[in-house]
Amino acid sequence: MQKHQMLIDGEWVAAQKGEYFESFNPFTGEPWALIPRAGAADVELAVAAARNAFKNPAWRGISASARGALLRRLGDLVARDAEKLGILETRDNGKLISEMGAQTRYMPQWYYYFGGLADKMEGRVIPIDKAGCFNFTLEEPLGVVAAITPWNSPLMLATWKLAPALAAGNTVVWKPSEHSSVSALEFGKLFAEAGFPPGVVNILTGFGNEVGTPLIAHNDVAKVAFTGGDRTGQAVYEQAARGIKKVTLELGGKSANIVFGDANLDNAVKGVVSGIFAATGQTCIAGSRALVERSVHDEFVRRLVDFARTAKMGDPLDPGTQVGPITTKPQYAKVLEYIQIAKDEGAKCALGGTAASRPECGSGWFVEPTIFTGVDPKMRIAQEEVFGPVLSVIPFDGEEQAVAIANDTQYGLAAGLWTENMGRAIRMSQTLEAGTVWINTYRATSYMSPFGGYKRSGIGRESGLSAMREYLQEKSVWIDTSGNVPNPFVMR
Ligand code: NDP
Repeated sequence: MQKHQMLIDGEWVAAQKGEYFESFNPFTGEPWALIPRAGAADVELAVAAARNAFKNPAWRGISASARGALLRRLGDLVARDAEKLGILETRDNGKLISEMGAQTRYMPQWYYYFGGLADKMEGRVIPIDKAGCFNFTLEEPLGVVAAITPWNSPLMLATWKLAPALAAGNTVVWKPSEHSSVSALEFGKLFAEAGFPPGVVNILTGFGNEVGTPLIAHNDVAKVAFTGGDRTGQAVYEQAARGIKKVTLELGGKSANIVFGDANLDNAVKGVVSGIFAATGQTCIAGSRALVERSVHDEFVRRLVDFARTAKMGDPLDPGTQVGPITTKPQYAKVLEYIQIAKDEGAKCALGGTAASRPECGSGWFVEPTIFTGVDPKMRIAQEEVFGPVLSVIPFDGEEQAVAIANDTQYGLAAGLWTENMGRAIRMSQTLEAGTVWINTYRATSYMSPFGGYKRSGIGRESGLSAMREYLQEKSVWIDTSGNVPNPFVMR
């Protein structure tokens, strides 16, 4: 088994207590790597390193253009190593190489884009209303950013935080998920090679309560950028609030993929399958509710089941595999529990509904692609995030009811809309409570376009210009130009 070290202040080190934990390959169910189990003492060291790096002229003193150049170099290195990083991700989290490889190959674009933005975040001169005063603003970094990321798209979701945070001039302590540390540690080697000074990026591996909690609580952490489940997100938010820290929270979802009778049904079937089964449902943007207009409901379900039935399961490292294993054993148990809940609630199982025992699934944690029909929007299976290949199909009549059902959840991450009626598409894009609305497509994201949640799906935006602003603070600077300080007892 490979034994790994973590990154503090440019050095590769073991945890202070010398402890390790095992990382499992979800396809074999076997441990394959030993990861340092960091704790509070390591948090102290990493935050101190990041704090010192933030003040160090080698980072703070370089121009924004030079920071941009470092990021672009990092992008080149990610492009060089994309294949290797993708394979490590698949071994660690069991997601398809076709998905992880596509992500690692696309990741350099974030470093190029935010590298380009680094020297374009200009302040403003305010045409101030006070005579004898000149007023302008500065855009400044926040300080040390704690980045806490989940296992489902480990490097991509870290990149969404690291690229803007570094472009803005912050330093970072990153805690990857305990289930996907290997790719993070391999990726960590690229910072020194790109020329980032030691301590600008530090990586602490370990468990949420042992690393995440003291990291968020640390006085020298200025901002917490978190992606994960909404319950954990709430705990992170509460803890960050105690220190009045800034937060970006990217949380879960129960996104609706809405199919109208006038849609191109072949495309809609592909869109619904892509929304729920492509990433084995282990994605925050999973379109886990298919809302289907009653006039085409039966026909659509028939085509959907026929198509989903052909999905090829098996080794996630095989580029031909379409549905892989569930990443962790507890998550596997949770998905099967939700399937039972749906059955108990009276939903009708139109496909799957069991663990997968196909020979090609080996001893991995696989669940059959599962489709429930006859789902009532109030059922738990229609309200709670499963994070697995389980789809609830809900019939509706007309636009108004579709919007009402789509919005009737505590989440608001994304929505898909399948219709040939563009007037309706535009109307609904304005009334759906979701941070992203896709029309006749699903699961498109880009470094240029803001991504984030409404309601319980989160706070703040990642990617695009909006993300850059999440890592900067604005300072207002006043200069007296009159040479004559007026009456000190009257506010100027
Ligand atoms: P979790 O919320 O369980 O964990 C996310 C991260 O937080 C992990 O690194 C975890 O560490 C850490 N953590 C856990 N407890 C604490 C704590 N008390 N304080 C600080 N950090 C903590 O999510 P999962 O890893 O299970 O990921 C799946 C979830 O992520 C889904 O709900 C999904 O919807 C959401 N997600 C959201 C996305 C979005 O952009 N909106 C994108 C992708 C996923 P550890 O692993 O060691 O427990």
